[in-house]
Amino acid sequence: MIAALLFAAAMWDGFSTRLPDPQEDGLRTRPTYEVYAVEYAVIPDFPVAGLVEGADKDRKLDIAMMVWVVRGGGHTIVVDSGFYRPQFFKSWKVRDFVRPDMAVARAGVKPEDVTDVILTHAHWDHADGADLFPKATVWIQKDEYAYYTGAAWQEGGKHGGIDPEDLAALLQINTQGRLRLIDGDREILPGVRVYTGGRHTYASQYVSVPTRSGPAILASDNMYLFENLEKHAAIAQTFDRQSNLKAQDNMKSLAGAKGHIVPGHDPAVMTRYPKVAEGVVRID
Ligand SMILES: [Zn+2]
Repeated sequence: MIAALLFAAAMWDGFSTRLPDPQEDGLRTRPTYEVYAVEYAVIPDFPVAGLVEGADKDRKLDIAMMVWVVRGGGHTIVVDSGFYRPQFFKSWKVRDFVRPDMAVARAGVKPEDVTDVILTHAHWDHADGADLFPKATVWIQKDEYAYYTGAAWQEGGKHGGIDPEDLAALLQINTQGRLRLIDGDREILPGVRVYTGGRHTYASQYVSVPTRSGPAILASDNMYLFENLEKHAAIAQTFDRQSNLKAQDNMKSLAGAKGHIVPGHDPAVMTRYPKVAEGVVRID
C-alpha cells in the first residue's frame, strides 16, 4: 500500500514536471507577429515639457505622429488610427501628413483588409481615424468609452484632447456591431494583450505583442518618449503620475531583456529601427 502510494506520488511528480509552462506553450502554439511603426505626420516644435514631467521649458521637438501595424495569425491589426478630420489642421501645425489609411498602405496593408483596430485611448490624434478602416473590429477599454461618452462632459469632467466627432464615430461603429469594449487587462487576440494603468487618459491602455525576438510593447502615449523611461519620468499629461510610473515599470518587465518598448511620439523610433518603406520601420 505504502509502495503503491510512493509509486503514485512519483508518477504524479513526474507528470507535474512535464506540465507545460504556459508561456512556453504559448510560444509553441500561438502566432508571433510582425510589428511596424508607421509615421503619418510630424508636429514640429512641440514643447518637451508637455511630454516629459520636469523637462526644460525651452526644449522643443518635432514629434512623430504614428500608428502601428501588427500582422500575424490571420490578423491585420492597426494600433491607434491617427487623425484626418479638417478641424485638427486648423488648430495644429502639421507637416508631412499622409492620411493614416494611406500611410499603412505603405506597409502593404489595404484599409479594408484591417481586421482589428486597437485604440490605446480616445485622444483625437489616436482615435480620429478609427472610421478609415471599414471592416475592422475596434477595441477600446470599456471605462475609456464610458467616461468620454458620459462623465467627461458633466460638471467636473475632463475632456481635453477629446473630439466629440470621434465619439460620435465610435458610437456608430458600436451600433454597426464592430466595437469591442475591453474590461481591464486582457488577452484580446492570441498572444496580444492589453494593459491599463498608464492613466494618460481616463483608462488608456498599452499593448503587448509577441514577435520573433521577444515582446513588443506598444506604449503609445502612456510613454511619449524614450526619455520618459530613461529618466524614469512620468508623462506630463496623466491622471495619475504614480500609476503611470508603475505602468512604465511594468512595460520594462513585460519586455524583458530581448523585447522592445515603443513610445508614442518619439521621432527616434523612425531612426532606431530598420526602414522598410517610406515612413515605415520594422520593430520586429
Ligand atoms: Zn494622447
